[in-house]
Amino acid sequence: MEAKILDGKALAAIIKAEVETEVTQFKAKHGFVPGIAVIQVGGDPASERYVKQIARSFEGVGMGVRLCTLAEMVSEAESLGVIRQLNAEAEVSGIIIQLPLPKHLYQETLVAALSPLKDVDGVHPLNAGLLLMGSGDYFIPATPAGGMELLRRNGIEITGRHAVVVGRSNIVGKPMALLLLHQHATVTICHSRTPNLGEVTRTADILVAAVGKEQLIKQDMVKPGAVVIDFGVNVIEGKLVGDVDFDSVKEVAGAITPVPGGTGPMTNAALLRNTLQAARRQAGMEK
Ligand code: NDP
Repeated sequence: MEAKILDGKALAAIIKAEVETEVTQFKAKHGFVPGIAVIQVGGDPASERYVKQIARSFEGVGMGVRLCTLAEMVSEAESLGVIRQLNAEAEVSGIIIQLPLPKHLYQETLVAALSPLKDVDGVHPLNAGLLLMGSGDYFIPATPAGGMELLRRNGIEITGRHAVVVGRSNIVGKPMALLLLHQHATVTICHSRTPNLGEVTRTADILVAAVGKEQLIKQDMVKPGAVVIDFGVNVIEGKLVGDVDFDSVKEVAGAITPVPGGTGPMTNAALLRNTLQAARRQAGMEK
């Protein structure tokens, strides 16, 4: 039997409609719309495409977008000045810093300057630490937050199941593993030094790929009936493909995210949700 397709595009549209309604209510109560500021240094084309996507989705739900494009050679002091100014502006509810940064700027230094209350992609050490502890009010990086929402709204059981996460970056793999752990999965994390990857992935009830290597996960690496979440974004001859060999894996998996149309739109939706949540926290409303 073919896998159930976990349609992130359709679900993201539902979440966007929910956010749009909540933004209208927020505006009626507070007199302004929540908004995001996107700091981009230089003109990386992939990053520019992503920024345009963010702008479209924020404008689409009636939220504000401020694009702060800094010159490639901007100094650290100037960059920190921009971040501090955005931290202080009431109508900027969330701030994200687009990667990659030019070599002379340290990601850690800029990220640490973000107000944790506006860190809607959950990259500030305080938010990352609270996620590790699983307690308090913190922001979850948008990509794994979107992935977890996709599992939740499709009614996929996590408790007691074996989740294997391939990839251990701070922005996708590691937070996804922690979120699955908080939901009582038994979690294994794999990475580039994991020997016999297929032997491990074949034991997964929930298999998550967050690698950036096209079609790394083949059919024989997947347990029949497993839920497969593909975060991979790879461009092959102008076509978007995931880390999972979708066509063959969908023959054995129980459920699977397509690429495109799976986790990507859910990342966008999660960023909208996080930004609205940030505005509420800053306004002293409920979480
Ligand atoms: P990183 O490059 O930061 O991390 C990749 C991870 O994959 C590393 O932990 C690396 O291991 C591991 N890895 C590399 N090769 C192998 C291998 N052969 N076998 C097992 N593990 C391997 O990438 P990101 O986490 O930032 O992104 C992962 C993917 O997700 C990318 O395709 C990216 O484009 C995509 N992405 C998708 C988003 C979405 O919305 N869907 C948003 C953000 C990213 P090691 O640590 O040992 O080097």
